[in-house]
Amino acid sequence: MKLLPKKLLFLFLLSFILFFSSCSVKTATSQRFCFNTFCTITVYQGPENMDEVFEKLWLRMTEIEKHISRTDENSTVSALNRGERVEIDTDTAYMIRVAEEFYALTDGLFSPYLGSLIEKWGIGTGDERVPTEEEIRGALAERKYDFGAIGKGYASDEAARILKENGVKSAIINFGGNVCTIGYKKTGPLSFMKTLFSIGIRDPLSDRADYVKVVKVHDLCVVTSGIYERSFEVDGVLYGHILNPYTGYPAEGEVLSATVTGPLGVICDALSTSCFLLGPEGSESLLELFPDYSVEFVL
Ligand code: ADP
Ligand code: MG
Repeated sequence: MKLLPKKLLFLFLLSFILFFSSCSVKTATSQRFCFNTFCTITVYQGPENMDEVFEKLWLRMTEIEKHISRTDENSTVSALNRGERVEIDTDTAYMIRVAEEFYALTDGLFSPYLGSLIEKWGIGTGDERVPTEEEIRGALAERKYDFGAIGKGYASDEAARILKENGVKSAIINFGGNVCTIGYKKTGPLSFMKTLFSIGIRDPLSDRADYVKVVKVHDLCVVTSGIYERSFEVDGVLYGHILNPYTGYPAEGEVLSATVTGPLGVICDALSTSCFLLGPEGSESLLELFPDYSVEFVL
């Protein structure tokens, strides 16, 4: 008889734990086509008014695109590319600053001045083609901005900032392969019910979603640049969308993809494109400058 209260307490605790572990976390997902790619955000722990937060977030993403897009003729970047004197907004100013620094750090291999060349190849249009030698020479002589190599990384940082400022504690942002995580992945309602986010690195040689490796992180971004993202085929030849500014042709080398993990999406994005171009050995001295960032190559 004396043990009964203890037994009851035990049963009570057990049912309490079973009840809570059976309630899964209510997730909120939002998806848009933005930056010429599918952008998805999944929130595992956030405020009640997530719909409002998402609205605010996508408005800001539209604003960034309006500033830095090369293909939107009303953007700041387009005005600069036409040689107009315009007031430079803070997004474009930031893109110029980051891109110019990486241009210097990579001896011009990472180049924000390839706008004309990218246009000639039709990269990102779904209607890619191989330009003539003359077109390539002409395009290389022009200096038009294209921030395709860092724009999505920057946008994902801004998305993460907006989510955090609005009370989101656990989320994953995926802007066309540019991934940013907030906190740990929440798996249940109690504070210990959480795990790392698992981000798969796709096999570049497979057209299915096979993973060659899984990166496990919390509060970090994971960005991949590779031949499979936006690559295209002409007459049986596979071309990548990352161009070598010295030749005007898609970069060729042993690297199939470079995945960078670190705290800022924009730096991960700049580094992943740079490391793809530089290769494993060529990247070593660059990576020494960024001790909080690491790279995984698929060769
Ligand atoms: P993704 O856009 O697939 O995420 P990246 O971040 O590697 O891949 O960026 C590739 C984009 O960067 C291209 O689509 C093009 O807009 C631009 N680009 C191409 N070649 C270069 C280069 N050598 N340096 C900087 N940007 C480049
Ligand atoms: Mg990049």
